Amino acid sequence: MARTENENAIFPKGEKAPADYFTGTAWVNILVPQDQTGSYSIGDVVFEPGCRNNWHTHPAGQTLLVTAGNGYYQEKGKPARLLTKGDVVKIPSDVEHWHGATHDSYFTHIAISNITKEGAVKWLQPVTDEEYNSVHKK
Ligand code: MN
Repeated sequence: MARTENENAIFPKGEKAPADYFTGTAWVNILVPQDQTGSYSIGDVVFEPGCRNNWHTHPAGQTLLVTAGNGYYQEKGKPARLLTKGDVVKIPSDVEHWHGATHDSYFTHIAISNITKEGAVKWLQPVTDEEYNSVHKK
């Protein structure tokens, strides 16, 4: 069933995510900032319907915990995985991928991002409409 509201939200929406790295609007609420150990941070990310982040990699991987809505996770060259509440995605180091909402649903996940001296993420090119549409038409 399509969801058009951010229903069942656990955490409040944070700041709008940087437009340079997202197509559409997303909000990021940093729940646990990088601390003195520097090893990880935890953020809650809300995507409006159709919103997705750019292709990117994580030097030390990332874990996504899906808390609401419907979304996708896709690694380069592989079919997209449909995600819904309760799904867990373990993203390996240096694997090019994107995540975001389906075209008709809000999507919320908690992102646990490992941080190295190279940072937590390397942003690449946007996910084109052609790439995105080819996922949700299947
Ligand atoms: Mn990621």
